[in-house]
Amino acid sequence: MNVLVINCGSSSLKYQLINMNDESVLAKGLVERIGIEGSVLKHEKTGQNKVVIEEVMKNHKDAINLVLKALVDENHGAVKDLGEVDAVGHRVVHGGEKFAGSVVITDEVVNAMKECIELAPLHNPPNIIGIEACQELLPDVPMVGVFDTAFHQTMPAESYIYPLPYELYEDMGIRRYGFHGTSHKYVSERVAALTGKSLEGMKIVTCHLGNGASLTAIKDGKSFDTTMGMTPLEGLVMGTRCGDIDPAIVTYLINNKKMTAEQVDNLMNKKSGVLGISGVSSDFRDIEAAAKEGNERAQLALEKFDYTVRKYIGSYAAAMGGLDVVVFTAGLGENSASNRCNICKGLEFLGIEIDDCRNDIRGQEVEISKAGSKVKVFVIPTNEEVMIARDTKMLAGK
Ligand code: AMP
Repeated sequence: MNVLVINCGSSSLKYQLINMNDESVLAKGLVERIGIEGSVLKHEKTGQNKVVIEEVMKNHKDAINLVLKALVDENHGAVKDLGEVDAVGHRVVHGGEKFAGSVVITDEVVNAMKECIELAPLHNPPNIIGIEACQELLPDVPMVGVFDTAFHQTMPAESYIYPLPYELYEDMGIRRYGFHGTSHKYVSERVAALTGKSLEGMKIVTCHLGNGASLTAIKDGKSFDTTMGMTPLEGLVMGTRCGDIDPAIVTYLINNKKMTAEQVDNLMNKKSGVLGISGVSSDFRDIEAAAKEGNERAQLALEKFDYTVRKYIGSYAAAMGGLDVVVFTAGLGENSASNRCNICKGLEFLGIEIDDCRNDIRGQEVEISKAGSKVKVFVIPTNEEVMIARDTKMLAGK
């Protein structure tokens, strides 16, 4: 069975075609600048060089059409015809309280996804557009929706409720939902495989540290608490997002700097985080380089980031009443040894001890804690695509 995994952003689209017999990736690629001048598809059949196809793509349907053409191309295609695409799995960012797991996509499901748009106005619309475009182009192929929020639906009420009037939760769904759920779930399942132990009885903190970043406290294999909230803005300091701040800053800026709500929203989402503090970049590689050259704001941005992650690891250990495993994943978590080391510095009192030699790796699945460390620390490259493909196989294969 071959599953096509689609992840649609507002102007981009990532895809992977996965053979579910052995979970091997047959082809993968990325479309950028959909609906913008200069749209381009970068397609890679496994084992071959990447091909770059520059073609006008006015919308997501054009983009998916081009992806499907690339998948069956006689030179760089991965299958003979589209009949070999057995199912499509779609990443959907926000499932609200409606979706606690993946679902086969029906008209009813698409309507329920549309009802979640106001909770994720930037993310859900392109996800839905991608689904509708695929339905048009592959009308007989079953499709499955996999939600970033679903894994976190197990959180207890004291984790997800905000201390606001309760009616705002009841009437408007204002609560913590959490994101990156597919990634947090994937790495926690790998912990079970790597330690040979059941997740039952285990207390894990998974650190998904990329451009967007979140931590999840996982107790007995279930999300117990997570740093992102109703939207992916809350929690850690991120590339361009501010994470936790005093909410009164919002009204202060509106009243005293005469900013509009939209301007403040833009400031918090696009101009803050390590970019805002450093003034250098949102990319940690640039910030690390600038800090090495003595840029004090770049150094401060790194310290603030590491400090916030460290603070949450400690607070989640307290929330769960203990800690057995910490996992680092995503762009920064998988690649930056210095960040992992600085985050863990000072957490020895919890039983976290990093081995500098073991930590000197990038993008590998390894334990980086010392042999005697009470808390095991792992680097586990995330694989959201395979999780989406597994759920798609399970639900669409029936
Ligand atoms: P993601 O959103 O998961 O793709 O992660 C992107 C982030 O990971 C960017 O801020 C990158 O700077 C960071 N990153 C990727 N590779 C490295 C590296 N070798 N060292 C430091 N940061 C890295």
